[in-house]
Amino acid sequence: MIEINNLTFRYERRSGDSGERSVLDDVSLTIDDGSFVVLAGPNGSGKTTLVRHFNGLLDSDEGWIAVNGQRVGEDVVAARTAVAMTFQDPRDGFVAATVAEDVAFGPVNLGLEREQIDQRVQEALVAVQMDGFEQKRIDRLSGGEQARVAIAGALAMRPDHLVLDEPFVGLDEPARQSVLERLRALSAEGMSIIVVTHDLRELLDLADRLVVMSEGQIVLDGSPETVLDRLSEREVSVPC
Ligand code: ADP
Repeated sequence: MIEINNLTFRYERRSGDSGERSVLDDVSLTIDDGSFVVLAGPNGSGKTTLVRHFNGLLDSDEGWIAVNGQRVGEDVVAARTAVAMTFQDPRDGFVAATVAEDVAFGPVNLGLEREQIDQRVQEALVAVQMDGFEQKRIDRLSGGEQARVAIAGALAMRPDHLVLDEPFVGLDEPARQSVLERLRALSAEGMSIIVVTHDLRELLDLADRLVVMSEGQIVLDGSPETVLDRLSEREVSVPC
């Protein structure tokens, strides 16, 4: 479970500028194990800032986050093992020069045997249709291919909670379908999945929950049908 409790965050808070606007304003949210959550909302509403707290990439003094019952700030390693994340710009997350090395990074750090590592890497690359690219240099790949490698790296962790920030940007239709298929299977196996996206196509068939942010707050939260109905009554647009 991921619990977010009264979280408030300002990027410039340590600069002494106390007048800085809160990017997250008293956000509380509980994500149950096995749930499939789509986090939507206009650009700049705070979605990325929120999810970056889930594994300690950002850390606020106001409010707290717990993953599987453990405060993230108290054990960042546990949080990073439990929560795998991809970034809007996949280049932010790469740690190795080649595809196979990068996807293997998480499993290697988990201390797995070579055979298990290779199996996980292969499975993850097949899921994003990047098998055959193992020895390619990441910096020579297209943006869409890099996005798929980043997703493979997260899948290879077999985390309890998978967070994908705008995972479909740059993906062609077959790759998109393959990723959706994998998410469907992982969700059925009980992994919780949180997708930050402005592209809701097909995702809402998979999701059991749609959370909408606006100006640093959660303004709508419920089943996709309920939220979409209520969205039309508010001044929050979810481009899709
Ligand atoms: P979203 O993911 O919904 O597009 P973000 O969390 O990326 O929103 O951004 C929320 C707000 O925080 C925006 O106003 C953005 O300009 C600001 N912001 C994001 N990252 C930084 C940063 N590293 N430093 C300062 N401000 C930032």
